[in-house]
Amino acid sequence: MGKLDGRVVIVTGAARGQGEQEARLFREEGAEVVVADVLDEPGEALAKEIGARYVHLDVGEEGAWRAVVGAAKDAYGRIDGLVNNAGILRFNSLVDTPLDEFMRIVRVNQVGCFLGIRTVAPELEDGGTIVNTASYTGLTGMAAVGAYAASKHAIVGLTRVAALELAPRGIRVNAMCPGAIDTAMSNPAQLDPAADAEETARALDGLYRKLVPLGRIGRPEEVARLALFLTSQDSSYITGQPFVIDGGWLAGVSVI
Ligand code: NAD
Repeated sequence: MGKLDGRVVIVTGAARGQGEQEARLFREEGAEVVVADVLDEPGEALAKEIGARYVHLDVGEEGAWRAVVGAAKDAYGRIDGLVNNAGILRFNSLVDTPLDEFMRIVRVNQVGCFLGIRTVAPELEDGGTIVNTASYTGLTGMAAVGAYAASKHAIVGLTRVAALELAPRGIRVNAMCPGAIDTAMSNPAQLDPAADAEETARALDGLYRKLVPLGRIGRPEEVARLALFLTSQDSSYITGQPFVIDGGWLAGVSVI
């Protein structure tokens, strides 16, 4: 028996990275999955491989969300879960961040999450789940990612409010706050065919050995297991909470 047997879950930003691993794991655990992304080619290929349905979705576009809900209901007849995973990151000091860059980040990370909750929640079966992907920068500051950190703090706030408002229907809403995870976002060399993957992996390992108490960067499969926990009955009495998954990075300041 799978942990998600009979459930239908939409995962945004699922063409690659953490969303891809969430879609794969949820299928393995018995869910029907809607893979939603702006990257059509890898999204379609993944959906075909795992037996899911691909839908083009720009999470910042209101009308596109209605199309995703329609596609999920047409294909599977119901919706039980949503993972708001799509996100983008840009590096800039606050005083150097142009307004349009700030707004682009807010549009995808924060507005995308809001539209996802607002559009999907009324369609969710009672007892459904929403998992929002925030970040450790949703709980603490980090230089050079001001717009991103602001949008991720907002996601934690949206999570708490949605949990309160949807609890009467038994819908649980939680947030994941990953630290550094080895995807194209933290490791853009993954997208560069000319990059030496082993050399990049060694450099990353060296960096995170110093920064992270557990001594390594996280894997997208590890975040997918947290998303599974928060989407399944294993977390049946948990709602409105941010879950840090960061190898101990936020545990405190290390002097050893
Ligand atoms: P990623 O860049 O590999 O994946 C992000 C996915 O989101 C991609 O498939 C991308 O096409 C999709 N996406 C981007 N804009 C979109 C839009 N407008 N509409 C729909 N899809 C869109 O990175 P990832 O690490 O897998 O990121 C997943 C989530 O985890 C993001 O919300 C990110 O902010 C968060 N996160 C990542 C890290 C990390 O270190 N990798 C740390 C903390 C939080």
